[in-house]
This record gives sequence, structure tokens and C-alpha cells, in this order.
Amino acid sequence: MSYIGRFAPSPSGPLHFGSLVAALGSYFQAKANNGQWLVRIEDLDPPREMPGASQLILNTLEAYQLHWDGEVVYQSQRHSLYQQQIDDWLSSGQAYYCQCTRKQIKESGGFYLGTCRDLALTNHLECAIRLKMTHPVYQFNDQKHGPLSIPHALADEDFIIKRRDGLFAYNLAVVLDDIDQGITEVVRGADLIEPTGRQISLYQMLGATAVSYLHLPLALGSNGQKLSKQNHAPAIDNSNPKPALLDAMRFLGFEISRDIEQANLAEIIAWGVSQWRLEQLPGSIEITPRFSNRSL
Ligand code: GLU
Repeated sequence: MSYIGRFAPSPSGPLHFGSLVAALGSYFQAKANNGQWLVRIEDLDPPREMPGASQLILNTLEAYQLHWDGEVVYQSQRHSLYQQQIDDWLSSGQAYYCQCTRKQIKESGGFYLGTCRDLALTNHLECAIRLKMTHPVYQFNDQKHGPLSIPHALADEDFIIKRRDGLFAYNLAVVLDDIDQGITEVVRGADLIEPTGRQISLYQMLGATAVSYLHLPLALGSNGQKLSKQNHAPAIDNSNPKPALLDAMRFLGFEISRDIEQANLAEIIAWGVSQWRLEQLPGSIEITPRFSNRSL
């Protein structure tokens, strides 16, 4: 089977160092396996998006010489795919409406305990839609980290597939899109280890074969927090990509020689593809990067 990987940024802001690591790791893994590397813009949540961020992200990938295969896919244009699956599950009884508020769930210990499962609610406007969890996944195998465990309470939960505000849930969209695009392996940041169990459950409930997973170490800021758009991590520089590119590659375990430092971007990327090894990836899940150059 030929390899198809992807990079799936949410356009909540420009790419930062942590998202560059995810872009590069997924690119190297796809190209080292002679595979395709697709880009999917996960614009599912307009209130959390920054106007213009999708285009900015694509410009950044181009500036870093990370050229994707095929057309960019936008989740905002795929609502009918998600809705159709939800409708199928609603009519088969696999999904149901739930009126519990966040506050009620917090009061019951932070996990939803199935309160609305058998109520047959029909008041669609005030409700989220949940999926009956028939295939909980407590553990999965990561290509780098081996077996990783998912807390039982999380794995057992009937999770939300469409929110009360009408937005489609990330887990559902990601799995339906990965299946539709023929993705064979998901490479992304370790912050997404926890949802992986739910995503594998979705594959099982859809009767599909799950992809394999590789979670890359998470870049932490100097405050010990994950670098993220929510934490206002600075955007990486499009006009001078080399310093951030080399720092992100060092973060992924590459030993960069002086010759490589002096090569041009296309040569550096091609060298990265030829040298990419999972064994060189750091074993820890969270790391504070050392920025040798002023790459931020
Ligand atoms: N859109 C998600 C994010 O930017 C990544 C989804 C994924 O790789 O599965 O955090």
C-alpha cells in the first residue's frame, strides 16, 4: 500500500515553531516513505479562527519549501460529509441528542455519564449530538513511543460529534476526512495523543481500518507551556526561513553540519528526507527547544 500522510493545521493563527515541527515531521515521514503529503485546513471553528490565517499558513509552507501534493482540502467545504454520517447514526440509534450543560458534566466529576443516552430527546436546538461508545479504545501503538494508554473514563465516554452551537466536532471531521483522503499514517504533535483513542474508536464504529500514528515531541515555551496559538506563540519568519527550519530539524533529532547550514532550503529539505530516521527522534513527549539562532 502506498503511503499517504498529511498536515492538518487549524487556521487559528500563523504557523509557530510547534506547528512547523508537525509540518516538517509529517513531511519527512511521508517523503522518506516515497509517499504523498497532503495539506488539509481544519477550519471547523470560525470563532477561533483568524481571518487570513489559512492563506498565511500556505504561504509559510511554500516559503519553507514544503510543497504539498494535490489540492488543499478545507473542512469548511465538507459539512455535508460530516452531517450525512451523523444523520445515519441518528437514524440507526448509534447517535443521540444530549441536553447536558458543561456545568452539569463538571458537577458529575468532569465526565459525561450517559445521562441522555436513553431519553430519546428530540429538541435539536438546545442539544449536542453524542455517539454511543460501543468500541472504547484504552491503548494504541505509537510508531515511536510504543503502547500508549488512554484513561478509561475518557475512552468510555459517549463523546460529542456535533456541538450544541452547531459546529462539527474535531474527532469526527478528522477521521471522516482521513478515511476519505486515503491517509495511511497520521503524524502530529503529542498534544493529540489523548484524542487518538476516540479516533480509533470511530474507525472501528465505521468499519474502517485505522491509520498508524506517530506523535512528535511537543515544543514547550520557556514558561513550560505548550507552544500554541492560544498561548500566543510567535509566528515563524517567512522572509528568512533558514534559522527556524534548522532549529525545527535539530528539535526532530537531526545533527546539522556546517555544510548543511550553508546549503539552500531545497537542499536542506532534500537532505532531511534522505536522513530521516524514527530512531533519531527524541524519546520524550515534551521538550523545551533550544533556539541556536534567532529563529522566532
Ligand atoms: N487541526 C489540528 C491542530 O491544528 C491537528 C489535527 C490532526 O493532526 O489530527 O491542532
